Amino acid sequence: MSQVQQITVLGATGSIGLSTLDVIARHPARYRVFALSGFSRLAELEALCLVHRPRFAVVADARSATELQARLGAAGLRTRVLFGEAGLCEVAAHPEVDAVMAAIVGAAGLTPTLAAVEAGKKVLLANKEALVMSGALFMRAVRQSGAVLLPIDSEHNAIFQCLPGDYARGLQQVGVRRVLLTASGGPFRETPLEALYEVTPEQACAHPNWSMGRKISVDSASMMNKGLELIEACWLFDARPEQVEVVIHPQSVIHSLVDYVDGSVLAQLGNPDMRTPISHALAWPQRIDSGVAPLDLLAVGRLDFQAPDEVRFPCLRLARQAAEAGGTAPAMLNAANEVAVAAFLERRIRFPDIARIIEGVLEAEPVSPVDSLEPVLEADRRARDLAGQWLNRRGEVA
Ligand code: NAD
Ligand code: MG
Repeated sequence: MSQVQQITVLGATGSIGLSTLDVIARHPARYRVFALSGFSRLAELEALCLVHRPRFAVVADARSATELQARLGAAGLRTRVLFGEAGLCEVAAHPEVDAVMAAIVGAAGLTPTLAAVEAGKKVLLANKEALVMSGALFMRAVRQSGAVLLPIDSEHNAIFQCLPGDYARGLQQVGVRRVLLTASGGPFRETPLEALYEVTPEQACAHPNWSMGRKISVDSASMMNKGLELIEACWLFDARPEQVEVVIHPQSVIHSLVDYVDGSVLAQLGNPDMRTPISHALAWPQRIDSGVAPLDLLAVGRLDFQAPDEVRFPCLRLARQAAEAGGTAPAMLNAANEVAVAAFLERRIRFPDIARIIEGVLEAEPVSPVDSLEPVLEADRRARDLAGQWLNRRGEVA
């Protein structure tokens, strides 16, 4: 690659965003930061702008934009500060951008990620919720625009690495029997079931192997993360839900596997550090240094596997059901989960209530077909309303 690649990092102040900037900074001859976005941490975004000197920064609202613009101007930077969804879409689709890291958390990332896809960018997808919500439309937009979609989620990145280059012909055509998604099982893999009512947000966010944002950490603890990843895998690799198996692997060294009809099973291994999938996707089809230490198999010693327990982790069952139901079901699952996780993080509900809220929302609302973005956004709104009503009713009882 002779030319320097211009990169937009959506969600730059988050865990994935910072890891992406760490990799980019290791390769100044290859990559240049074109735009950075942040939502609530203005001081952090300012600090990142001072280091990476992007053409654009994007913040939540007009007030923050004016504030950051003044601070960057005073520091002698010519960065232009935009705001809101329109600003995010502008930097995602800008003609001078080569690749977009989609690392906003949750449904908020849908529109900007789709804007990058529709503009035919190289899209590095961390924001799994966007694909879960809008799967069919998202993948259709990828095909129509010629965007190059590369998974950042470590499991999907592993599967991508273990599949042949022509896997888009169909999994059966390329001899794949099934894909195996590994899951650490999170911090509550062995917590007594009754004790799950007492666990705190801090305990849920203390993941044994990965350091991540708070929402995905709670999702990992409930295994909704694996449920969302199951849906994500179905869309990325055109798999049916029953072709995707979840295996608990507490060491998080095998990031996922592909099982072929001849009995071969290919796996991708590495230390649990997101800079590996980020570097892989940034440089694909080449390889670059990521700063991740080499895997020391002797130090790892052993690799364990267990079946997931759907009594302990009802979110996994709910996600599989939503994958099978199709239509707007995954968007509702995702929205109800976002509301429930936020309420858990605010200590308004207990940990097992997360699954109860989601199940209640899915039972209350019929599934509609998805032929455009409108039913997806409507399902998202409706599920948020229903989950909010559940929280309010509970507030009255308490
Ligand atoms: P994080 O909470 O650390 O960062 C989230 C980023 O999104 C921040 O930059 C924040 O400013 C921005 N943001 C939040 N709300 C926003 C809104 N309403 N509008 C615009 N921007 C908003 O999260 P993270 O752990 O970096 O995860 C980001 C995404 O990557 C998630 O979809 C997550 O599932 C996925 N992912 C993360 C990891 C990981 O190791 N952290 C691994 C795999 C996938
Ligand atoms: Mg993952």
